[in-house]
Amino acid sequence: MLECTNEVFICERSERKIKNYFFIFPSERTNTPLGLLYIVIFVFGLCIGSFLNCVIYRLQKTKSFLKGRPACNAMPTSGAKSASIATQSVTGGRSFTGWRSIIAGRSICPKCKHILKWYDLLPVVSFIILRGKCRYCRKKVSWQYPLVELATAVLFLISYFLFISYFLFLVYIWIIICFLLIIFIYDLKTYFILDKVIYPAIGIVLLWNIFNNWSGLLMLLLTAFLSAAFFFIIWLISKGKAMGFGDVKLGFLMGLFLGFPNILVALFFAFLSGALVGLGLISLGKKKLKSQVPFGPFLITGTFVALFWGEKIVSWYLSIGVV
Ligand SMILES: [Zn+2]
Repeated sequence: MLECTNEVFICERSERKIKNYFFIFPSERTNTPLGLLYIVIFVFGLCIGSFLNCVIYRLQKTKSFLKGRPACNAMPTSGAKSASIATQSVTGGRSFTGWRSIIAGRSICPKCKHILKWYDLLPVVSFIILRGKCRYCRKKVSWQYPLVELATAVLFLISYFLFISYFLFLVYIWIIICFLLIIFIYDLKTYFILDKVIYPAIGIVLLWNIFNNWSGLLMLLLTAFLSAAFFFIIWLISKGKAMGFGDVKLGFLMGLFLGFPNILVALFFAFLSGALVGLGLISLGKKKLKSQVPFGPFLITGTFVALFWGEKIVSWYLSIGVV
């Protein structure tokens, strides 16, 4: 039951003006049980997480988002719709047709190339039933698959809970969450932040604010440039050792997406969690002081904290009188 309105709202979380959008599922106005909606959103998040796993897999294999080598013809068991062997056969294995090959076609195990059945592809469920192994070759499937699926579902659920009234805003947030999760996992695995992922994300945030937050756009751009400049200086001084140039672009995206003062919350949590995990890894002997640790995942964790609880943290911080 969606209801169209023409009013202008201030979102209590983002404090941004949100206008002319649908009220989504206001539980007090419909008889839909709220619990059922949570389950629907959660399952939807799991499916999108499955799709993100495929995108990450494909990015890693091809290093090209829309045109690349026909390497993504496989999908681990828990992953969902995958690049297709069907497309490969049509194109003679020389190229494949962008997004269509991600969404369409049959998924196969990357190790034994066995075509997977639908019941091998259920997000999280298949992983648990098959105990993290391929049904056909019994080779291990990475924990990344169920974890990304669960993370997507939980993040979708939290944003639904917080932005429940603003349908288009919620969709916008979900799209950016997807981009951030791809950057998170890709940086964790390869120590790279791809331009073909970060630039579209910046473009979407920019477009959203041009159409919905014109008056606040200048401030957001200023925050973005200052945030990027902060990382650029670290990159310059450390000669790229402390931070990659991808982090400079990610800093720009964070500033543009979060605005001020939420960007400070994100940076605080990023550096805090980065330091704690770094110290933990060193004390466990997994890393040395000079080892490289990708910083993108920490920045993105900070972004999620600031997106969901930024205002609360800022007002709490101001209320305790420390400035
Ligand atoms: Zn297999």
